[in-house]
Amino acid sequence: MPIYEYVCKQCGHEFEELVFNGEEPAPCPRCGAKDTEKLMSACSAKVDGGGPNLEALQGSSCGTGGG
Ligand SMILES: [Zn+2]
Repeated sequence: MPIYEYVCKQCGHEFEELVFNGEEPAPCPRCGAKDTEKLMSACSAKVDGGGPNLEALQGSSCGTGGG
């Protein structure tokens, strides 16, 4: 099952949601707003040049959401 990462435009909360059809946006679990945006796979999207394998090697970088 594909897991997509969403960010709520209302409160900025980031969350992951299982998506079956890949079309329906998931509502924010924090504030309930449906104004959410589906992110591309966060792990690879955060890599801006440099060593693309670095993120993969660190692993723990994924899902920290800090920053
Ligand atoms: Zn929200």
